[in-house]
Amino acid sequence: MGSNLWIEQNVREGAPSPIPSRFVLTYRELMTTAVGDPFECHALACALAVAATEPRPLTEALGMSRSALKAMLACHFPSLRALPVDAGPGPDALEEPDLRALLLEHRSTGAVVEEWFGAIIARRSLGTNHLWQDMGLSGRGDVSTLLNRHFHSLAQQNVRSMKWKKFFYRQLCLREDVLICKSPHCDSCDDFSKCFGDEFPLGTPSGPRETWHDHHQ
Ligand code: SF4
Repeated sequence: MGSNLWIEQNVREGAPSPIPSRFVLTYRELMTTAVGDPFECHALACALAVAATEPRPLTEALGMSRSALKAMLACHFPSLRALPVDAGPGPDALEEPDLRALLLEHRSTGAVVEEWFGAIIARRSLGTNHLWQDMGLSGRGDVSTLLNRHFHSLAQQNVRSMKWKKFFYRQLCLREDVLICKSPHCDSCDDFSKCFGDEFPLGTPSGPRETWHDHHQ
C-alpha cells in the first residue's frame, strides 16, 4: 500500500470532521521519500503525520525514545529534515508497559521495526478514537494487517474480530486473571456492541469517542 486512501478520499470529498491539512502534507512528504517496505513506510508515515498534528513532542506522541525515533527516521525517511526529534517519550500510562510487553512477546520476526511499532501502538492506544484513527491509518484493515504481520501470534487470538483496543485490554485482564466484564460470556453481555462490530470513524465533534479505559464502564 503506497497511500492513505482514507486521507485521499476525505480530502477529495470533504469529510464531516476534516483531516488537518498538516497531517496530509506531512504524510505525503514522508511517503514521497520513504525507503523500505511500502506497508511499513505507510504505517509509520501515518503515525508520524498524526503525531505531528499534536502540540507535544513527536517522541511523546509516539511513545518513543529520541534515539529510537532518530533510528526510525534514518531507516525509512532519510531525506527528512524538518521534523524535530527533541525530548523523550514522556511518562508511561499505567497500562502502557504491559501492552508494550504483550506486543513484544508476540513479535513475529524480532526486527527492530517491531520495537518501534510496539511503542507506537501502546502509546496511540491511549487515544480516544478507534486505534486505526489514533494511529492515523486508513481503517481497521490497516491495523489488522500491521498486527498480523508483526505481532502475528497475538493477532491470531482475536478470532472474533474484537475491536483492537478492547482486544488488548481483554488480553491484559486475562493475563492478570482480573475479569471485570459485565458478563462471563461476550454473547450474553450488554456491552457486546462496544467490543465488536464495525469501526466507523469516531471523534466527530458530536460523535462518540472510545478509549480502552472505558471498556468496562
Ligand atoms: S465487556 Fe462484554 S463483550 Fe466486551 S469483552 Fe467483556 S464480556 Fe465480552
